[in-house]
Amino acid sequence: MQIEIKIKIKIKIKIRIKIMKKERIIILDTTLRDGEQCPGASMNLREKLTVARQLLRLKVDVIEAGFPAASNGDFVSVQTIAREIKGPVICALARCVPKDIDAAGAAVKPAGKRGRIHVFLATSKIHREFKLGKARDEILRLAVEGVKRAKSLADDVEFSPEDASRTEPDFLVEVSKAVIAAGAATVNFPDTVGWAVPEEYGMLIKYLCAAVPEFRSGAAMVSVHCHNDLGLGVANSLAAVAQGARQVECTINGIGERAGNAALEEVVMALRTRRDFFGGFDCGVNSREIVKSSRLVARMSGLAVQRSKAIVGENAFAHSSGIHQDGILKKRETYEIMDPVEVGWGGTEMPLTKHSGRAAVSARLRHLGFQMSEAEVAAVFARFKEIGDKKKFVYDDDLTALVEGQITEVPETWALDYLNVTSGNRTVPTATVRLQKLAGKKEAVQDAGIGDGPVDAALKAIDRLTHRPGKLMDYSLRAVSQGKDALGEVTVKVDFGGGKMVAGKGASTDVIEASARAYLNAVNRSLAK
Ligand SMILES: [Zn+2]
Repeated sequence: MQIEIKIKIKIKIKIRIKIMKKERIIILDTTLRDGEQCPGASMNLREKLTVARQLLRLKVDVIEAGFPAASNGDFVSVQTIAREIKGPVICALARCVPKDIDAAGAAVKPAGKRGRIHVFLATSKIHREFKLGKARDEILRLAVEGVKRAKSLADDVEFSPEDASRTEPDFLVEVSKAVIAAGAATVNFPDTVGWAVPEEYGMLIKYLCAAVPEFRSGAAMVSVHCHNDLGLGVANSLAAVAQGARQVECTINGIGERAGNAALEEVVMALRTRRDFFGGFDCGVNSREIVKSSRLVARMSGLAVQRSKAIVGENAFAHSSGIHQDGILKKRETYEIMDPVEVGWGGTEMPLTKHSGRAAVSARLRHLGFQMSEAEVAAVFARFKEIGDKKKFVYDDDLTALVEGQITEVPETWALDYLNVTSGNRTVPTATVRLQKLAGKKEAVQDAGIGDGPVDAALKAIDRLTHRPGKLMDYSLRAVSQGKDALGEVTVKVDFGGGKMVAGKGASTDVIEASARAYLNAVNRSLAK
């Protein structure tokens, strides 16, 4: 009797693997939407476009580019990405209201057939009662109306019952059937608040796949979007994949609202590395672009990656224990489950030196993914020469840090010309600053300031010159590359009044100069707004 049962199970598993071999997982990257939504991450148009170009090289299937109804800036960035990025589907998010859906439709229009509108409406009891004040019938009616409207504006429509993991499963079935009939090709079941646990969430997906005929037949796709409030975003996404989900929504470095989203690099590498477990599931992501993508997003969003972060953290492949090192040298697989080269570690190019010419710098900038005008390349090259005199090697990370100050949409109003600081344990820190005014009446202005420390003194002197005093809300300093001559990169968040924070970045071998550059970068950005 027992033997019989065993045989049956074996056959079942075999069949499952056979079917799974053909399955492809669609990767929807929402770094530019959910990722950008988190506090302190705001990117400007140029930065978003740079990230979108990298996502294209990473070969994600869908780029969720933003939330067009949120602001004019969001609308323009989605529209620009839809126009410029050719290949992936370009998706725009919309609440289930006509104004949002129309804005999303207009923003993705330049993408033509590759444009997608993603409509969401909360379905859980708690959201129905306390947020929306609407009954199930009303929600159902609104969802269908919203999807129909979206379908009239774009071929490709996705619908999300927000807070799906806390919604009654039978209602999810009802909503899914209705929105699919109205034209949605993808139904996404978000774990909006990070409430789910893998087994339970996997079972929910399994139930939905069985209960909705279009999911069973493949006429409509099941998607998941998991948040990391309990650190389970990736685990929940993978549990869902094992039970029938075919689209995973995720972000680079796992950035996103609150504790973030499922990390793209972890989802992709789990599927690849544990091919033995996940059967033939795979995705089109070019894993060798992962580390580059991670660094770019960290830079552009100003959200640093923790050292021990899986796949992309500085320590992810660093083996400090002697026993491990010995094992790795004898056979890599003893302690390393992935080849770091496969995710883009290691293969760095030869660093540039002060002898490198403008053509070499320009070529490297293009290789790093930056599209810059001649004038912009010239400005970066001038800074490169300054740095090259102080530092033996200029690494790709150094160059990227230099570019940051140049990635603004409007010409700079102020540029740093001269900085002299005196400080010590028995002197009053004093800074003398000369700025070039580049906009309007071009002139050089000079003043001095004193402060609590040399950075404070330099910023006070800048305030006196620009007549735009700011309150420094956040300050961080990190070494861009290795060694004592490493470039220091400063990120600041400044409040110039009105409570809205403006970010600024600057890099130099001198940390006080980097601070002054970062602060000026924020001044220029605030003037551009
Ligand atoms: Zn989300």
